[in-house]
Amino acid sequence: MRGGHILTAGVIALSTLTLCQTPPLPGSKVSGPEPSLPSPRVVIVCWDGAKPSAIQYLLREGRLPALKGLLAEGCWSWDGRTILPSSTLPSHVSMLTGVAPDIHGVTWNSDKPEKGPLAVETAFSLAKAHGYKTAMVVGKAKLRLLDRPGSVDEDILETGPPKAIEKRAAEVLQRINPSLLFLHFAAPDASGHDWGWGDEDKGVPPSREYLAALQDCDRALRRLLAVLRRDGRWKSTLLILTADHGGHGLNHGSTDIQDVRIPWMAAGGLVGARGDLHTPVRTMDTAATALGALGIAAPANWAGKEIPCLRPSAGKALGHAA
Ligand SMILES: [Zn+2]
Repeated sequence: MRGGHILTAGVIALSTLTLCQTPPLPGSKVSGPEPSLPSPRVVIVCWDGAKPSAIQYLLREGRLPALKGLLAEGCWSWDGRTILPSSTLPSHVSMLTGVAPDIHGVTWNSDKPEKGPLAVETAFSLAKAHGYKTAMVVGKAKLRLLDRPGSVDEDILETGPPKAIEKRAAEVLQRINPSLLFLHFAAPDASGHDWGWGDEDKGVPPSREYLAALQDCDRALRRLLAVLRRDGRWKSTLLILTADHGGHGLNHGSTDIQDVRIPWMAAGGLVGARGDLHTPVRTMDTAATALGALGIAAPANWAGKEIPCLRPSAGKALGHAA
């Protein structure tokens, strides 16, 4: 793949040279990618344990203004699916490897360094193999399993509140300008376990604390979007916002639809689709869609497929981040 990529880059360089020497005739079409296409960037945001019904409730109440603004310029599904077990570590591994637990083998949900590194490729390792810089800021140590050796340039554990995650993200964007950035916000999950996700089957609303945690995530999202828009790369950005699972009562992990249903939304200049996607979305699709935006084909054995949300030109901007 690497050889093919270099060859493609060479063709682009050659066509750039040709264009410089021989301007196209008026009215003629220049085929191939525009040489000036900026390097793509993908930011994957996970609100741990964010339940679609609670997000929709807060949106109706006008209490997630940053997310509302994002939705106005993007697309979404409120009916995505995570894997079973609907618990944090296996779900995140599927989200970022494009394969189900029967392939990646991670069924545990705690920090177990003795298990060794992941046995399968990740969105990070594939992006890295194609010359992109990668980074992640996570709120739980066990998620560092996603960092296969050599695959993540900056692997940051930040256990503070959402604003602390956002601050670290802004710093890493400024310092290394990664083309693939994963941000994990643990706050909704912690509040869900402590105070409750609510239970639609029993008519129990989500706890005030859980809803407040989602609002904290929204405030962090507002600041993150300001950073992403400020540096001019928003037009070449794909931002995916999703969750690893939902929850009901004080827990998750079961086959209950309230645990398994996840939100999935995409926005940024690389996104062409608008509104409800009306297409099935599985958490494995996040990795495939992220790679698609970076111009990398997802491995054939992946269960995850690219969600049809990107502009036709996305993935053709082959210039690597400098
Ligand atoms: Zn979780």
